[in-house]
Amino acid sequence: MKPTVVLVGRPNVGKSTLFNRLTKTRDALVADLPGLTRDRHYGHGRVGSRPYLVVDTGGFEPVVDEGIMFEMARQTLQAIDEADAVVFIVDGRVGITPQDKIIANRLRQSDRPVCVAVNKVEGMNENVVTADFHELGLGEPVAISAAHGEGVRHLINDVLAHF
Ligand code: GDP
Ligand code: MG
Repeated sequence: MKPTVVLVGRPNVGKSTLFNRLTKTRDALVADLPGLTRDRHYGHGRVGSRPYLVVDTGGFEPVVDEGIMFEMARQTLQAIDEADAVVFIVDGRVGITPQDKIIANRLRQSDRPVCVAVNKVEGMNENVVTADFHELGLGEPVAISAAHGEGVRHLINDVLAHF
């Protein structure tokens, strides 16, 4: 089985940076795969001999009228729909925001496995930076630095352990 791992999170937490890292050195984009949602970025990842599909949800960028909160909830539900597993990225330097809580609520209601990735914590103590994020109610968070590659393998191994 080749699981589809969807990256979700509010804007600017590092989804695209993680996507690029996970798909680096392969033929990253499979954008012309038929039937795939257009505002998504699809790529191939692999850890050891295990391949998976990665989806960058592209954030929750400007949407007219409805407001970003509504749009986030909508896109999160849509992302969950096409996911075998979800990586929920939060910013370890900012802490939990109201937008994070909205996404977390949606994810808790889904039956998909979710892994919380606490990003941007390069060089910081894992236990310290993840402590606050247990409150999201989505299990043991993993500290990562998408930009520097720290913790990324640990994260993906956790995600793929569900399959
Ligand atoms: P997205 O909106 O969720 O796709 O976020 P991006 O991947 O575009 O990243 C948003 C910003 O956070 C960019 O300026 C990145 O360089 C920065 N960023 C992403 N990952 C890390 C990280 O691990 N450490 C630090 N310090 N900055 C990061
Ligand atoms: Mg992005």
